[in-house]
Amino acid sequence: MRSLHVQIFIALLLGAISGMLLGESVLHFAFLGTLFLKGLKMIIVPLIVTSIVSGVVGIGQVGHFGRLSAQTFTYYLSSSLLSIITGLVLVNAISPGKGAQLHLQAPPEQLAHSIAQFGDGPKAALERLLLDMVPDNVFRAMAEGQILPVIVFCFLLGFAIIRLSDPHQERLRGFFQSAFEAMMQLTHFIIRLAPIGIFALVAKVVGTTGLSVFIDLGLYALTVFAGLVVHAAIILPLVLYFVGGISPLALLRALTPALFTAFSTSSSSATLPVTIESLEQRAGVSNRTTSFVAPLGATINMDGTALFECVAALFIAQAYGVDLGFTQQFLVVLTALLASIGAAGIPMTGLVMLSIVLTSVGLPLEGIGLIIAVDRILDMFRTTVNVWSDSCGTALIARYQGEKLDITKH
Ligand code: ASP
Repeated sequence: MRSLHVQIFIALLLGAISGMLLGESVLHFAFLGTLFLKGLKMIIVPLIVTSIVSGVVGIGQVGHFGRLSAQTFTYYLSSSLLSIITGLVLVNAISPGKGAQLHLQAPPEQLAHSIAQFGDGPKAALERLLLDMVPDNVFRAMAEGQILPVIVFCFLLGFAIIRLSDPHQERLRGFFQSAFEAMMQLTHFIIRLAPIGIFALVAKVVGTTGLSVFIDLGLYALTVFAGLVVHAAIILPLVLYFVGGISPLALLRALTPALFTAFSTSSSSATLPVTIESLEQRAGVSNRTTSFVAPLGATINMDGTALFECVAALFIAQAYGVDLGFTQQFLVVLTALLASIGAAGIPMTGLVMLSIVLTSVGLPLEGIGLIIAVDRILDMFRTTVNVWSDSCGTALIARYQGEKLDITKH
């Protein structure tokens, strides 16, 4: 039996070919993709709860918590900023929106509602982000899949457990650790379905999205794509190699199942179980580091989305003939960062969060209608970069915690 990443790669190719040959008939087997996606979604909340609580308790016991969280936030903020700056340079150099012949397309009703909701400016968005971090009902947050408040609750619970004395601390630590192991076992079962699921998901996208959408938006899509490639294939590998002494190719090989899952599901949250599995089992990162850094990354660190926010906002400005000066471009950088932190790890939320960036520089929200046609495809690429950056961060931080990984350059 071929190894998992080879199987997944073959499935992806077969999916793309079937989509091209069969067109909309691929919808007959689309349920196989939905089944895989449901399997992944099923374990997100229990996996996050058990992994963060056991992670916080484990780190708290050895007393490294402050250093680990400082390293995590430093990496997440700087990698997102680097990514936005790459996008900014490219979109100014290529100017894909200047003189572009574009058609406004109205977003579907549900999306339009969220866009209007987030279009009330960066201050309101920051306020909402802070308020939303604290759940008023943690079970409702879990049921509705709001990951950030669940993470905050789990952090607090972890801290509370550290302060307990034995036997309570001992019991709860053991319980959450064992529950986490059980979730990982469940993840193994679901990952076995990855080749079939990925085949069906990719076939569906290729079969139902015509390539003609790229005719008007080709240069824009190319600018986003080029930015993502520069960030993921040049900047992050350089950081891995020189800052962490990690072989980027070895990490890439270890992470292929997660990256292909991200590409086909367009959801960092749904990919999280596979990301954790790949980091621990294939790259040799410890459970203590992974269980803390990876879930946080899947929720707040989105380099691909951040870059997309910046390129899309400047493209829309160019298409409307609006010249954004230095101060306004600086505002775009800051709000793109905020939008990427606030975006949930599910399909096309990056597009919804773009409304914050557009409002901050006074661009019309309808501008989103200019780029919606290619967003489904671009989302696949930016989600892959989001997951890749989370994984690079987790591996780097593990090195800084003194871990010996299977993927170091020597
Ligand atoms: N789909 C992306 C993710 O899950 C978010 C986005 O729409 O940019 O990472």
